[in-house]
Amino acid sequence: MTIPVGIDLGTTYSALAILNQYGKPEIIPNAEGERLTPSVVLMTPDDSVVVGSIAKNSAVTEAENVVEFVKRQMGNPDFIFVHGNREYSPEEISAFILKKLKQDAEQLLGQEIRDVVITVPAYFDDLRRQATLNAGRIAGLNVLKIINEPTAAALAHGLNLSGKQRVLVYDLGGGTFDVTIMQVDNGDIRVIATDGDHMLGGKDFDDRIMLYVNDLFQQEFGVDLFEDLEVQQDLRQRAEAAKKTLSSRTSTKISISAFGHRKTVELTREQFNAMTADLLERTELLIESVLMSANLTWRDIDSVLLVGGSTRMPAVQDLVRRLSGKEPDQSVNPDEAVALGAALQAGILLAKQGNSLILQTETGRQLATTTIVDVTSHSFGVQVWDPHTQRLQNQIMIPKNSPIPTERIDEFYTVDNNQTTVDFVLLQGEDLDPANCTVIGRTELQFDRPKPKNYPLKVIYAYDANGIIHASIEDVKTGYKAVLDVQLTGRLSEGEIAAKKLSFDVIEVE
Ligand code: AMP
Repeated sequence: MTIPVGIDLGTTYSALAILNQYGKPEIIPNAEGERLTPSVVLMTPDDSVVVGSIAKNSAVTEAENVVEFVKRQMGNPDFIFVHGNREYSPEEISAFILKKLKQDAEQLLGQEIRDVVITVPAYFDDLRRQATLNAGRIAGLNVLKIINEPTAAALAHGLNLSGKQRVLVYDLGGGTFDVTIMQVDNGDIRVIATDGDHMLGGKDFDDRIMLYVNDLFQQEFGVDLFEDLEVQQDLRQRAEAAKKTLSSRTSTKISISAFGHRKTVELTREQFNAMTADLLERTELLIESVLMSANLTWRDIDSVLLVGGSTRMPAVQDLVRRLSGKEPDQSVNPDEAVALGAALQAGILLAKQGNSLILQTETGRQLATTTIVDVTSHSFGVQVWDPHTQRLQNQIMIPKNSPIPTERIDEFYTVDNNQTTVDFVLLQGEDLDPANCTVIGRTELQFDRPKPKNYPLKVIYAYDANGIIHASIEDVKTGYKAVLDVQLTGRLSEGEIAAKKLSFDVIEVE
């Protein structure tokens, strides 16, 4: 029997939780005794790897040997961290973080950790989810499932909720913002709509303080603190500390010594709120758009959950109060809710498989009968030729916010006489124009012999429970088939698509 484990692999901090023998999720502290582990990796000169606070503290003195915010690079084929003679992908760097969490927890529990649920922002696309799955495998974990962070957070709250409620999860972490609306019905969770901005998080608030201090330093001494990596890292840590102080106090001081100069800058909460107001406004706009896409208004929302360390900022709580007219629910620690929910999800999955000693939560809820329905956070389509407009078009097969897992089967037809092949291009995006979408996979179907115009083809498009795409195109008469495994297929950049002017040979049924 295996222990259910949930991991929140965060941009700035990560956390690991288990479901204990009483069915209560609990955070397992790391070897340093911390409940949150900084997602920072330090490569030492002898090629050993240090993860966590020690690495974070070294970010100042050994900046070139330290990797931070690697989550923002997940799925990016161009990101490589070079150290010594070795190159590391974002997956490999993330695997170091996962390994640290695994090893520390194993040591404390005296038990092997194998089966885990890892969380990702709801807004993560297929490639980033795959990269997260790979990171888990590299770390020697059996990833039961990748789930969305807000779903995990709601699960951490949701199993304690009784009755029917519509909940909005406002999740502002270190590097990402997500907003999710879900229906909680006696502990069962159904996601209604979700959206996010993976370039908005606590780090951006730190950046504003850094810019402010640097401006003042420059005005006085004529030197730029960003020119030196070590000084910049030092400034980053002081800015983050000042931001956190401003969550409980109304003013703070930031002292910087660099290039033989020293300055202390006073910063009030009011000033900080003013210099970051546009960042909060971006979260407001996204909430409005998610409400609209779900055909809901604030009046339909029963409660708001605050998730992510950045929701400790009073301005976030004020914003939520102002918009919703309600007091936000902070009953679960916002930094820990995601990992706790992931551990519950691991318990649910293992209980359903009959592979867990833990069958119910502390509140007596049966894990095996709990259901969670998630939705897609993007639209997925195929590239087709539209004979009316004489243009390539994104034909959406799985619309955004479809409950998952989902599968759609459709019939398409060849465009030309004597066609011998068909290009099968999978797109992610809402736009009709393929140039504004991301190509997530491409393959070619070869026919046994040339086919006439309007020859039928069957396309199956599926999105599995881990948020991974499986698609195929088939000539049903001969059984010739091309299967697209998105994981193995290289991705074309948008520039490449434009340059290639794909000769696409499939049209949609009229
Ligand atoms: P998470 O990824 O959810 O752990 O969130 C981490 C982010 O929360 C980082 O940007 C932290 O600086 C930020 N954070 C943590 N505690 C506070 C606090 N008390 N006030 C403001 N931001 C905080």
